Amino acid sequence: MKEIYDIAVVPGDGIGPEVSKAAVRVLTEALGSTAVLRFAEYPAGAELFQRTGDSFPAATFEACRSADAILHGAAGLPGVVHPDGTEAGLDFTLGLRSKLDLYANVRPIKLWPGVTSPLRGREVGDIDYVIVRENSEGLYAARGSGVFLRGEVAMDPLVQTRKGIERIVRFAFELARTRGGAPADGRRRVTCCDKANVLRSYALFREIFSEVARGYPDVEAEYALVDAMTLHLVRQPSHYDVIVTENMFGDIISDLGAATVGGMGMAPSAELGDGNGFFQASHGSAPDISGKGIANPYGTVLAGAMMLDWLGRRHGDRRLLDAARRIELAVHDALAQRNALSGDIGGTMGSADITGILCANLAPAA
Ligand code: ATP
Ligand code: MG
Repeated sequence: MKEIYDIAVVPGDGIGPEVSKAAVRVLTEALGSTAVLRFAEYPAGAELFQRTGDSFPAATFEACRSADAILHGAAGLPGVVHPDGTEAGLDFTLGLRSKLDLYANVRPIKLWPGVTSPLRGREVGDIDYVIVRENSEGLYAARGSGVFLRGEVAMDPLVQTRKGIERIVRFAFELARTRGGAPADGRRRVTCCDKANVLRSYALFREIFSEVARGYPDVEAEYALVDAMTLHLVRQPSHYDVIVTENMFGDIISDLGAATVGGMGMAPSAELGDGNGFFQASHGSAPDISGKGIANPYGTVLAGAMMLDWLGRRHGDRRLLDAARRIELAVHDALAQRNALSGDIGGTMGSADITGILCANLAPAA
């Protein structure tokens, strides 16, 4: 346990500053006057690039690397690109991912009471599962190493390694043992989502998944092909507990999952390595609504709660674990009463008012 935790806040672009401000306010309030978290802001992203020509300053990286955790708003603006054509801001998120080896992207998909889902009323039961997306290899790791022949042929390598698969699968099984939620039938379950019938890289993923699963006899292991998975996540999402999958598949099914629980504004995301944690909402910078004060802050606030939970477990600090639970309860109450809904989830309330209600809902610390 530490006395004080240093949190590097990178507000970033578009609605990033609005939603990160909301999260910092709720986290500060949840931990009371004890100043357990020390927040410091660092610049990165497309807007910074426009002003200074640098979208990811070395000082920001150093601050992120040495902080206890990183809280991010969002990065990137349409059309703001580096001379080599890559999006400004993407170098920040991808750079942190690779330099800090944040190999596990954890994306909880939870339907909160009071939130409208396109699946509601269809007897789908509780939606409360977690997608564990491999974040360091797979198809997206090919970035820049593919082949492109004069507009005629393109090819991107899909590389998966034993080391990469083993560590992400083990991460998923450990999470199934420790996470709070439970699938409808109350069992601990990890689903391997792949395309093992067509591609060798996914066959290796499945083979190693089976090996690792033997070490977790208390957790059920099952398999689903990614195409069937998209059907299952619509038809019977309550079946799922933890889903582990390759990088690109994880990207795709987590947007599908978010759509079933109220959209991108409701979906938090954590990118974890053995030493660092990077927390943000799953959505992007949403420039169409930035500066209007109407962004949905729930995704980033929930990412903040994930950050406290992660720090609390790492450092055996009950204050942080307790604050994480109380933030989740405050979110639950605000949504269940349907009196703190932003435009994207069927309401009319602005970010600051929602944040105020969340703070007012916080139960006192234990
Ligand atoms: P990225 O490329 O970073 O994934 P994107 O192009 O997928 O970004 P987002 O910025 O995630 O796009 O958002 C898509 C649209 O969803 C936005 O234009 C906005 O209208 C809506 N949206 C996203 N996040 C929020 C939010 N927090 N609150 C309200 N609306 C949102
Ligand atoms: Mg997107």
